[in-house]
Amino acid sequence: MAVVVTGIAELVTNDDELGTMADAALVLEGDRVAWIGPTATAPDADERVDLDGRAVLPGWVDSHTHLVFAGDRTVEFAARMAGKPYTAGGIAVTVEATRAASDDDLAAVLRRHVEEAVAGGTTFLETKTGYGLTISDERRSAEVAGRFADEVTFLGAHLVPPGMKADDYVDLVCGDMLDAVAPHVRWADVFCERGAFDEDQSRAVLRAAAERGLGLRVHGNQLGQGPGVRLAVEMGAASVDHCTYLTPSDIDALAGGDTVATLLPACDLSTRQPLADARSLLDAGVTVALASNCNPGSSYTSSMAFCVATAVLQMRMSVTEAVRAATLGGARALRNDEVGVLRPGARADVHVIDAPSAAHLAYRPGMPLTYAVWRNGIRVR
Ligand SMILES: [Zn+2]
Repeated sequence: MAVVVTGIAELVTNDDELGTMADAALVLEGDRVAWIGPTATAPDADERVDLDGRAVLPGWVDSHTHLVFAGDRTVEFAARMAGKPYTAGGIAVTVEATRAASDDDLAAVLRRHVEEAVAGGTTFLETKTGYGLTISDERRSAEVAGRFADEVTFLGAHLVPPGMKADDYVDLVCGDMLDAVAPHVRWADVFCERGAFDEDQSRAVLRAAAERGLGLRVHGNQLGQGPGVRLAVEMGAASVDHCTYLTPSDIDALAGGDTVATLLPACDLSTRQPLADARSLLDAGVTVALASNCNPGSSYTSSMAFCVATAVLQMRMSVTEAVRAATLGGARALRNDEVGVLRPGARADVHVIDAPSAAHLAYRPGMPLTYAVWRNGIRVR
């Protein structure tokens, strides 16, 4: 079953050779992109969809979410908006609710949030454990996550659970907890931050994960300058996420390594932190990703369009840079070369917006521009 999509006013491919095309068409066959070219030379297919002058981009690749949770943190949000600072400790509220929830409850929350993300054009999504913080709760979080997310990350090192000593908990994470969860995940992550895990503890977690064959990710430099970015580059992590407070040497380290800097502007806004310095990173040649960090505490949105609009309007990224960071950047952060790009052979993840160009994502912020979505070759909207 092949579908030819015509009438594309602007086709963003993220492919160096194909570039951005006007008056374009593409053919989807099964779960792959089969052909890209001018509408005038588009081949026949079983089905024809004419977009009548709309823009097409690769589906968003959201490389950072925390969607295995229960409960709500409206009270904490309201207190923050009244002036109380954000701290890592708020995670414990979600941990309590998540432990008390059934697997079915967790699955229902996750399904709802993935559906919301897809409705906004997200076609590839990573999510994390990290609100269980016991062996059994982390393992079931990973199992539930694997039913709905494209990629799953183990974040047992999210917070030292109340009532435990930090070093005892790190030993548990590095030993029995990793052994129990590793078969269900591709990645491991650590929250390397004041109030969470220090540099030595974070390195121990990353080493233990690497020994079990997991890819590495780091939450770093969210609430202040610190060792997270440096450690991520040193350990060869695929991504270091937040990067809100960077020194020039952090930027040099990122520019000299192959760790992606994943920026989370919705989180910076919701915690009233400054927005990350995307411009310095891009100008230094660092690969930048944009992700939602959707979670109930510090960033309760899965809207990648909101992240892109913020990146353009407030972080001095161009539309091209922001769209690329939210698609190809996310794919690089997940070390996946089949998504975040539209070229023959790529996964058929297509986002059609109800506008003639991608610029409208920033030009018309907050508008529901998603018009159609194919995820893995299936039209889901
Ligand atoms: Zn996070």
